[in-house]
Amino acid sequence: MQRTLAIIKPDAVEQGVIGKILARIEQEGFTVCAMRMTQLTKHEAEGFYAVHKDKPFFGSLTDFMSCGPCVLVALEAPDAIRKWRDVMGATDPARAPAGTLRQEFGASIERNATHGSDAPETAAFELGYFFRGLELIDR
Ligand code: GDP
Repeated sequence: MQRTLAIIKPDAVEQGVIGKILARIEQEGFTVCAMRMTQLTKHEAEGFYAVHKDKPFFGSLTDFMSCGPCVLVALEAPDAIRKWRDVMGATDPARAPAGTLRQEFGASIERNATHGSDAPETAAFELGYFFRGLELIDR
């Protein structure tokens, strides 16, 4: 079993598709271990995306991620990190395969509806950034 962090980003919350994305999470066989809605501060978004701090889009990305509420979801499944990234599709919705969440709900390379950790080390950092150990329910 493996855990990963998913985020239903502010653009998807604004579109009113939290339920659709959670339904897809369950249909795909993930177990939800923890979930919380929050509005990140700019500072919290900067800390989360610190790995991108030198990228030209860092300011815009962290503005976007703090512009409205998002839903943080800890997912568990065999090979959860790769599996969730497959369900999301490519970073750029224009390149995401049909049937993926980003193809369906993403509007641009930045406003791309969902987040998923990209490796075991980043999943550990990201889950720990938002959830305390006792919030992650073993099911
Ligand atoms: P991910 O792992 O697929 O989310 O992609 P990255 O880790 O490369 O980028 C993190 C997030 O930054 C993406 O999900 C997008 O929201 C945003 N992003 C990535 N590339 C770009 C870009 O070229 N321009 C802008 N404006 N945002 C980007």
